[in-house]
Amino acid sequence: MERGLADLMHTASCQHDDHGHPGLKGVALNRALGEAERRCAATQERLTSPRRRVLALLLEADGPLKAYDLIAAFGEGGEPAKPPTVYRALEFLERLGFAHRIESLNAYVPCRLEGQSHEAAFLICDCCGTAQEFEPDFQAQLAAAEAAGYEVQSITLEARGRCPACRA
Ligand SMILES: [Zn+2]
Ligand SMILES: [Zn+2]
Ligand SMILES: [Zn+2]
Repeated sequence: MERGLADLMHTASCQHDDHGHPGLKGVALNRALGEAERRCAATQERLTSPRRRVLALLLEADGPLKAYDLIAAFGEGGEPAKPPTVYRALEFLERLGFAHRIESLNAYVPCRLEGQSHEAAFLICDCCGTAQEFEPDFQAQLAAAEAAGYEVQSITLEARGRCPACRA
């Protein structure tokens, strides 16, 4: 299982080590899944087994995963998932703020920030493919949009560059 996931990562061409954002495993993974169960229960939603499985794969991964990575890894070496199962689970996880889609990579990451659904911003490393989430401050943009008479539905910020490990 772990080897299978490692094969999915986008680190093949990166020669740098000491990356600071390894996936969760063991106790930390179970704690994150338990917390997700509690947040679902608090909003009358259910973390069904496909939803839980997709969230676990995202949490275990060292970087963003594409939908076809998730479909392939879903069955733990057995049958791959039916694509709609994974897409529906991703839609749910995004809606509840457990996961984000990074548009420029067409890939998914688990939300690393506590709390509800929120605006997302990412620092994406073009060398190793990691994506670090940070909390954006869009006040100026929202104020400008409001002044122009717009009602903003969502803003996504994706900054591209090199992570500390790859700059070293
Ligand atoms: Zn690198
Ligand atoms: Zn987030
Ligand atoms: Zn990097």
